[in-house]
Amino acid sequence: MNIKISALQFTRDVKSGNVSVEDFIAKTMEQIKKIDGNLHAFLSLNEKAVDQAKEIDKKIKSGAKIGQCFGMPISIKDNICIKDTKTTCASKMLENFIAPYDATVITKLKQQDAIFVGKVNLDEFAMGLSTEFSAYGPSKNPWNTDYVPGGSSGGSAVSVSAFECVASLGSDTGGSVRNPASFCSTVGYKPTYGLISRYGLISYANSIEQIGPLTRTVEDAAFMLNLIAGIDPNDNTTIDNNNEDYLKEINSGIEGKKIGIIKEMIGEGIEPSVLSATKDAISKLEGLGATCEEVSLDMVKYSVAAYYTITATEAGSNLARYDNLRYGYDFSVEGYEFNSYIEKARKKLGPEVTRRMILGGFVPSAGHAGKYFLKALKVKSKLTKQINDAFKKFDLLLSPTVPILPFKIGEKINDPVALFLIDINTVTANLTGKPAISIPYAISNGLPIGIQLIANSMNDKLLLQAAHALEKTVKLPEVPI
Ligand code: GLN
Repeated sequence: MNIKISALQFTRDVKSGNVSVEDFIAKTMEQIKKIDGNLHAFLSLNEKAVDQAKEIDKKIKSGAKIGQCFGMPISIKDNICIKDTKTTCASKMLENFIAPYDATVITKLKQQDAIFVGKVNLDEFAMGLSTEFSAYGPSKNPWNTDYVPGGSSGGSAVSVSAFECVASLGSDTGGSVRNPASFCSTVGYKPTYGLISRYGLISYANSIEQIGPLTRTVEDAAFMLNLIAGIDPNDNTTIDNNNEDYLKEINSGIEGKKIGIIKEMIGEGIEPSVLSATKDAISKLEGLGATCEEVSLDMVKYSVAAYYTITATEAGSNLARYDNLRYGYDFSVEGYEFNSYIEKARKKLGPEVTRRMILGGFVPSAGHAGKYFLKALKVKSKLTKQINDAFKKFDLLLSPTVPILPFKIGEKINDPVALFLIDINTVTANLTGKPAISIPYAISNGLPIGIQLIANSMNDKLLLQAAHALEKTVKLPEVPI
């Protein structure tokens, strides 16, 4: 049986009786056991997955109503809560944390008869872009295991590209769905801010982050969005999308659409192979009837600085609860005064999270807020104005997802600023709340390159249509695993 199929193909095969869910899940679990020792996408496995598959097969046989996932194997980033399941955020602080409730996305997928095969690796608390900051060790890129898979949703991207599941959910605060999707040659999609509930996603910088799917195809991303989008009383930033069907009309094409190529995202520091893939994508889109023209968003040059100032500030507040009292308890308060107690408790956090928390205490503090935090908020609003102006002229914006190819594990771990700068093309969509998607586009020296499309808020349907049109022009080799 072939497990190298799309999510939609899986549902068709099960529906038509060609595939038993039990066989598919058993084979998927076998694949995980066979290759994950080397790739390390998973932090924990669902030992009941095969039993759950048997139940779904029974349900199908009995003619009972069955959910749209038909027992589809899905992996979940380990910062999204599944009730009664370990949710570590790849941190020692939450090593023993068992989630007491389901995230809204999990509730919705359970209702559709999804099977969660396991929880997947990330940079600790989703801070990073290589999964090297996981407290449980890095994941490896299936295209070449000496290289990082990207991050922070690295485990999600690896598990999709190495056929350890058919789809995954990650989270994207500044690129964490799109970056690993680009590095591992999967689709990675961050919807409009508010389209998917964040209830049960452990917050890093909640004013800009979204849960998003990583999938083999754009159609699969649209399928996943159909299942998990919509208003949620538990997250008051969610938007009513009127039960939009994102799959319907996915083949509309992009004839007559205007696409702006963001100048600041194809300039300094871009690798030649990434630039040439981008140029190639532009000519393909023109071939499909779109018009492409360069557009300048000059606030992009301050976007990374603004992003790290804002996210560190939110992280400083969101992570204050990890104090060895409510979470991560393993020593008693007796015999400590406040500072030495907190100092010892916080030692369970790794170097990157510690760096962000120190920064997050400093930049919004009295006497400094005007220079840093408030300035960052001004950049955010100016950038939003610039991108909104661009959308008066263009339907979509384009850039490479990441300006460089995947790099070697260990190569940049001691250079946090170099790592921050790699986010230059992804953070704009988060700071402005716009939907953005990474489409697998090319392979250079055996390493993947993704192209990013960005649309205006709530134009997710158009974004997916355009991404699907571009995807259809691409034929890539199979991942060498
Ligand atoms: N690399 C970025 C950061 O470290 C993005 C992370 C994310 O999107 N979660 O903050």
